[in-house]
Amino acid sequence: MTDYSSHARPDHMSPEEFRHYGHKTVDWIADYWAGIESLPVLSQAYPGEVRAALPKHPPEHPEPFSALLEDLDHVILPGITHWQHPRFFGYFPANSSGPAVLGELLCAGLGVQGMLWLTSPACTELEQHVLDWLAELLGLPAHFQSTGTGGGVIQDSASSATLVALVAALHRVSGGLARKHGTRGRYTLYASTEAHSSVTKAAVLAGLGEDAVRLLPIDRRSGGLEPDALMQAIQDDRAAGLEPALVVATVGTTSTTAIDPLRDIGEICSRKALWLHIDAAYAGVSAICPELRWINDGIEYADSYATNPHKWLLTNFDCDAFWVRDKAALMDALSIHPEYLRNSASESGAVIDYRDWQVPIGRRFRALKLWAVMRWYGAQGLRGYIREQINLAAQFAALVGQDERFEIPAPHPLALVTFRLRSDGDGTDVDAQNMALMNAVNADGRIFITHTKVGGKLTLRLCVGSPMTERRHVEEAWIIICEAATEVQRVREHY
Ligand SMILES: *Cc1c(COP(=O)(O)O)cnc(C)c1O
Repeated sequence: MTDYSSHARPDHMSPEEFRHYGHKTVDWIADYWAGIESLPVLSQAYPGEVRAALPKHPPEHPEPFSALLEDLDHVILPGITHWQHPRFFGYFPANSSGPAVLGELLCAGLGVQGMLWLTSPACTELEQHVLDWLAELLGLPAHFQSTGTGGGVIQDSASSATLVALVAALHRVSGGLARKHGTRGRYTLYASTEAHSSVTKAAVLAGLGEDAVRLLPIDRRSGGLEPDALMQAIQDDRAAGLEPALVVATVGTTSTTAIDPLRDIGEICSRKALWLHIDAAYAGVSAICPELRWINDGIEYADSYATNPHKWLLTNFDCDAFWVRDKAALMDALSIHPEYLRNSASESGAVIDYRDWQVPIGRRFRALKLWAVMRWYGAQGLRGYIREQINLAAQFAALVGQDERFEIPAPHPLALVTFRLRSDGDGTDVDAQNMALMNAVNADGRIFITHTKVGGKLTLRLCVGSPMTERRHVEEAWIIICEAATEVQRVREHY
């Protein structure tokens, strides 16, 4: 056997060195934020460029942390797409804020792994508490509060939330048999064609397979799921000997922020004893403003609800807030009791262990960053932020609306505006034109927008999301889009 007894200790970073480099790192982040506007939004790196600048082999000998900070500027920054940039308008935002980042730093500094209440009571109890706070601020039904049968938990993502909702639904509908014997091709789930791809992924991960997913048609005007189609699909599946388990309703679809009719869907779920999960990943946080609570009309039918502070509530990724009406259903579905985790606190029933609410056992102290954000901004500040962003999006929509060349194919109740060049009926491929427009707009990195399909047609999306975005940024975006549109149409006329 190797003798390790005379081995030298590695050179750990001392608390004093940590203080020194920590200050430098915080300075680096503050400088980055202060100067972000001058950077191209979309990374201009070519495939392989970042790796080519890295040493082929790992370092054998210690290096000073300052060497890493230097490489941040030269190697990493050119390969960053700047999600916090005031002219980042792509996808949905993944916004952040000073208090969130400091909360994240504290999470890392404490280095807690909160799988059990016992492994850090504060990690569990702060999380329960801030999710009760958030449920109150969003006006969610009282049964989601941890003081009753329900409760909230922070998941890494909305995708995980949908997956655990599905597993809980399977557990309930099967009377516990799914957990024991597997799903044996019996169970089905329902969502609209506009639901997020994570619904199908959840079915794949849970072993149901893609064929178990019924993606139902939407109402063309509202963009929401057709309740009649849902009813019919459930009846057809039952008649065929299958067991409908779950409906995922979306509040704020990824393409256009359309909203499924929760009340009609909820009535069907309640009559047919299906689990209703509401995926409000992007839009849900906006219910912090009382005047936007209508987005959740019918939420009282939901068995579970998820929204992402890591998208639109100033809390850096990852932070998905997930609530269940009946925590026992979730815990029974997911609990595991290996000998090495047994302890009297868990067995007393006086505490909850969040390992039973999620896919992994281990978990980070993510509640710290949400706590930091809620305390720094206060409910007032958070409402002001959502309102400001919706207002900026409305200003952009007004600019688009004044230009005859464009149309806005879907309502824009929140901070996402969809728009596209109109077809002028001369047979030219308007989808190709819109794609050319997007590519031209994104090419030099001044702004970044993305696309989707609405009613089968290629459509551009501009989503306001960065806390640094101001009116001038939205106006600049519009000027850039207008100039590119003129150029795209000039090229077309030329050929
Ligand atoms: C963004 C989004 C998701 C996925 O969110 P993650 O947290 O990244 O998994 C799911 N559903 C909807 C409606 C979304 O907009």
